[in-house]
Amino acid sequence: MARRIDTYLAQLIDEDKLAFYEAVRDFGDSEIAPHLLQWERDHQLVPDSCLKAMGDMGLFGLPIAEEYGGQGGDHTDLCLMGLALGYHSQSVAITPGAAISLGAKPVQLCGTDEQKRAHLPALAKGERMFVFGLSEPGRGSDAANPEVTAVKSGDRWVINGEKCWSTNARWASHVIVHALTAPDAPNGKRSTCFIVPMDQKGVFYQEMQGKKVWEQSSTGQIMFDNVEVGSDAILGRENDGFKVMVTTLNGGRLFIAALALSSLAFALDKCRVYAEERIQFDNKPIGRFQRVQDVIVDMDIALERGLTWLMHCCKLYNADQLSRESAAKVKVDCSRTTSELIMLAMEICGGVSCFDEFGLIRHHNDLFVTRVGEGSNFALKDLIVRPLRK
Ligand SMILES: Cc1cc2nc3c(=O)[nH]c(=O)nc-3n(C[C@H](O)[C@H](O)[C@H](O)COP(=O)(O)OP(=O)(O)OC[C@H]3O[C@@H](n4cnc5c(N)ncnc54)[C@H](O)[C@@H]3O)c2cc1C
Repeated sequence: MARRIDTYLAQLIDEDKLAFYEAVRDFGDSEIAPHLLQWERDHQLVPDSCLKAMGDMGLFGLPIAEEYGGQGGDHTDLCLMGLALGYHSQSVAITPGAAISLGAKPVQLCGTDEQKRAHLPALAKGERMFVFGLSEPGRGSDAANPEVTAVKSGDRWVINGEKCWSTNARWASHVIVHALTAPDAPNGKRSTCFIVPMDQKGVFYQEMQGKKVWEQSSTGQIMFDNVEVGSDAILGRENDGFKVMVTTLNGGRLFIAALALSSLAFALDKCRVYAEERIQFDNKPIGRFQRVQDVIVDMDIALERGLTWLMHCCKLYNADQLSRESAAKVKVDCSRTTSELIMLAMEICGGVSCFDEFGLIRHHNDLFVTRVGEGSNFALKDLIVRPLRK
């Protein structure tokens, strides 16, 4: 059976991009789907062999310029990868996804030429991985004012405090630390980003335990105990750290929208097949009930609308014309709509939805992350409302 998402993408992207999407989709079908249930039941993170295979395919370097060893692609390619891999597993998709959109992108967007040359080639190969150290135990949505501090001492900086929710921490070579450097400056001008090696003296990592979403993705706490770095570790400008983070999140939010739509694409295909196979009353399929059809049709509408909107936003992003509000809106809408629909999708499939091997419960759980990750939807509405109040 052809995937519904493939039909829509064929109308929205050119032949080269479609061929790329299909190659990643086929990789997901052969290298991820057959193993996923076992990884889940064994509580295993994405295995090293899978990371290596994704690296060999060039997935970690998609939007990195060829002169820095990347594929020279764009943000559309990144989101197509999210759509293709997320169909089976958001956990797997977010691994190269966050490595690029939250790890390599800030270096690409805000790094000096020296920093780009030092890091991008290894990041593009997947040999190095950066994590995005914005969130802290006491600083989630209110991220502009970190509790992690960096204090200048001569020509060195001394970093102290704790980051959490750091995706990919398990495999990280470096963390981009967002730290308070000018407590008395105006809001948004108080912090600086530093590139800190994970093996630097005073850096400690531990995996966050008990997480029941994105189960194959690594999520870590990273502690800093008098960690010393030089000014060459600063990413972007001193006291402009929040700008680095916010610029990065614009692209990251498009990737989160792609993950939400990948789960919807899976749920739609699963439900439309199940509704024709499941027989109840008068020896006929449940797909004949109009209320069941309603759910399937609403999922189909949401998928076509979401993909069309997302591909449009990617084009704007590639042309450096996407506003923060637009990136937030597509993330809010895709995550909210899909997470509401998946509950209905599970309801029309009935009790079988409870089982891991049926797949819907995994997407249900993972869709929660798309509502809070890279900016909670409720908090993002503060941003979206601004132009409406002018
Ligand atoms: C699996 C996972 C992976 C993550 N990966 C990363 C990562 O790699 N790097 C990183 O830095 N962070 C990461 N995060 C953190 C994520 O960005 C935060 O969870 C998010 O910013 C929300 O912060 P919080 O959870 O502390 O919620 P809080 O800020 O405590 O907010 C809780 C709730 O309060 C309400 N609220 C808060 N502020 C407002 C507001 N202004 N207006 C209206 N309502 C509001 C909302 O309902 C919100 O959901 C990850 C999170 C998860 C779950």
